[in-house]
Amino acid sequence: MINYEALLKISYGLYIVSSGEGDKGNGFVSNAVFQVTSEPAQFAVCCNKENFSHEVITKNGKFSVSILNKDTANQTIAKYGYKSGKTENKFEGSTLKTGETGVPIVMDDAIAYLECTLVNQFEVGTHTIFIGELVTAEVLAKDIDPLTYGYYREVKKGMAPKNAPTYIDKSKLEKKAEPAVVSKKYKCSVCGFIYDEKEEGKAFSDQPDSYTCPVCGAEKEDFTEL
Ligand code: FE
Repeated sequence: MINYEALLKISYGLYIVSSGEGDKGNGFVSNAVFQVTSEPAQFAVCCNKENFSHEVITKNGKFSVSILNKDTANQTIAKYGYKSGKTENKFEGSTLKTGETGVPIVMDDAIAYLECTLVNQFEVGTHTIFIGELVTAEVLAKDIDPLTYGYYREVKKGMAPKNAPTYIDKSKLEKKAEPAVVSKKYKCSVCGFIYDEKEEGKAFSDQPDSYTCPVCGAEKEDFTEL
């Protein structure tokens, strides 16, 4: 038996992984970044083969990892996590730094960053694990905590998009017993965020027209009733 709730007990961080050259390239939000060896320091990054970033990392042979702060703006997550670099330039409007290798590093909401050159890669079905050797590591804000995936899920009510390695279909999670109170739920069609009237303490229809999804910034009209 597989209880998918157990998978939610694994803790992760949240990062923006970028690649390209100078201010050209792409970045995406990833929770699958981890150190695999100490000497030399090597890092693994898992990327969906259909992501534009997959192509950009493969082509440029390097990547950067921006470590996000705990209170990262929803717009940053929305831009790098829910938009595609195939259709828009995500770097537009972002503060970038060019690393020693020429790789772009997203500075928005970052408290530290890593820069790696690609040394290996492994195919894992829908995803590729890229292995990079550390070239540069820099701390930008010493006293600010990093954003964790658990905090993002529990406090910011975010969830992994379909192309994330840790995506879990909602139907696989146990339904929580709910008291018989009439309250409706609305789902963001962009990121899957659920607006639960009971949890929010406010009817969705009472939200102003300017209401936007707290996770991805989608408009009120992008929500559908469940
Ligand atoms: Fe959303």
